[in-house]
Amino acid sequence: MQVTRVLVVGAGIGGLGAAAALARRGVGVDVAELRPHSGVLGVGINQPANSLRALRALGVLEDILDVGFQYDRTTFYDWQGRLIVDCPSALGGDVPANNALSRSDLHRILTGAAEQAGAKITYGMTAQDLEDAGDRVHVTLSDGKIETYDLVIGFDGLRSPLRRRLFAAEHEPVFTGYSVWRVTMPRPAEVTNTMVFQGDGTKAGVIPLSRDSMYMFVVTAEPGNPYLPSDQMAGLLKERLAGYGGLIGDLRDAITASDGIVYSPLSEVLLPSPWFGGRAIVLGDAAHACAPHLTQGAGMALEDAVVLAEELAVPDRAVAASLAAFMERRYARVKLVQDVSHQILVGEMAITAAMLPQAVAHMRETLPGRLGQVEGFLNQPC
Ligand SMILES: Cc1cc2nc3c(=O)[nH]c(=O)nc-3n(C[C@H](O)[C@H](O)[C@H](O)COP(=O)(O)OP(=O)(O)OC[C@H]3O[C@@H](n4cnc5c(N)ncnc54)[C@H](O)[C@@H]3O)c2cc1C
Repeated sequence: MQVTRVLVVGAGIGGLGAAAALARRGVGVDVAELRPHSGVLGVGINQPANSLRALRALGVLEDILDVGFQYDRTTFYDWQGRLIVDCPSALGGDVPANNALSRSDLHRILTGAAEQAGAKITYGMTAQDLEDAGDRVHVTLSDGKIETYDLVIGFDGLRSPLRRRLFAAEHEPVFTGYSVWRVTMPRPAEVTNTMVFQGDGTKAGVIPLSRDSMYMFVVTAEPGNPYLPSDQMAGLLKERLAGYGGLIGDLRDAITASDGIVYSPLSEVLLPSPWFGGRAIVLGDAAHACAPHLTQGAGMALEDAVVLAEELAVPDRAVAASLAAFMERRYARVKLVQDVSHQILVGEMAITAAMLPQAVAHMRETLPGRLGQVEGFLNQPC
């Protein structure tokens, strides 16, 4: 390996993936995580086939499949629950097309993989200051200690302080104007794949997570990114689902408590290439946070982690050359995911009740081909 000691900033999905990938190759890995403990919010997350391949490279595929729910298609409906089109997935082959699971399970498994490989995770810790010394970097940690690393890897999320430190302030996340509401619920027997329900300027859907559970998501326009009081979430979500019938109407009527409703304003950022400066690099959401419409954000972060470790393992090459080679493999793929996710978000939110008949015909005609094309691309090795 070209590096013997690295600091990973952030023990989210990508940071834990990078810690596992590098520690498995014998690199000494410290992870600094700002949160005081390892727990994460309990909603679900889908891992498509390309992400499952990254998880296989980290040695945890079986554990992930054991706790998740596998499926191979997305079905689209109108807001009364009438089927528009069934899209079998172009993902998969050697792994399932999709495996959805709870975020807490994904974190637990990735934390185990990182720690078993020898990475040391410290909670309530961050990198306060960096001094690049050419072939290494001196880091002042928030406990006052100064440590020296060959590379600092920032997986510190959408609001990444490391991105701000390394690059100009213009690369800040931009609010899309839309938000996602998520709530974990018991899984009705009919929910065996991602089901998407097109509404009047909104979209709802369900994703199965296990034999017993699933989560419902709802995407809504929230101009100006308003503050929404957490104790009123149930009423506010029900209001936004007012026009829905069928399954989503039934699920709306079953919502009684605001607890457990997770509300996420959607922001995007795409840092231009390269994502590194000297001996520091930012990855995952810190470099390329996208709308969740292809369920690819975590997959892109995990691919970043695995590809970085592969490039740093190439013998007889300088670290800077490996980081440049990493960018060659990553930028176009990540940009495609971001662009397509954004187009889907904006396109779906623009559909009104009056446009629905036309939109339905268009979706029937074009969705399987469009989705198949992007999934086919993402199913290629990264
Ligand atoms: C509504 C919604 C639904 C989604 N659904 C999916 C899905 O189904 N499938 C999918 O693949 N992706 C999904 N995503 C995207 C996915 O959650 C992210 O892309 C993924 O979590 C990015 O991983 P990351 O490690 O880069 O960042 P994060 O997971 O955000 O981790 C960043 C970590 O850094 C820590 N941190 C922050 N600042 C500091 C600091 N200064 N010092 C130290 N630590 C710090 C944070 O506490 C956190 O632990 C969804 C996103 C949203 C908003």
